[in-house]
Amino acid sequence: MAETTQCKSCNRDIVWMGTFKGKKMPVDADTVPDTFEEGDIFDKRKGMVSHFDTCSNAAQHRGGGSRQSAPPRQENTPALAPKLNIAIAALKDVIERTTQDSVKTIAETALQQIARSR
Ligand SMILES: [Zn+2]
Repeated sequence: MAETTQCKSCNRDIVWMGTFKGKKMPVDADTVPDTFEEGDIFDKRKGMVSHFDTCSNAAQHRGGGSRQSAPPRQENTPALAPKLNIAIAALKDVIERTTQDSVKTIAETALQQIARSR
């Protein structure tokens, strides 16, 4: 069984798991399988959800819950990438389905802006 602790910012049950990169990250305890054993590695494909994605105060406990606050990283924010992908998929959907040229243009412009800002 996984050893759960509570997130210092939102009090949700979390499990600290290793990653493929050899780091530790908090995972939502209710998404960790019962078969979890110490040393198991975080795996999205098994349905585990990073607590960085669900915590409202993710930036605060990054780095193992210590108080020293590193400046938030602009590049490569793990929580942002999945959300961007959802937005991009939605925009593509709009472009495919809409019959109105004006709507299509707006969605295409938004897609281009996202592509440029990445
Ligand atoms: Zn939290």
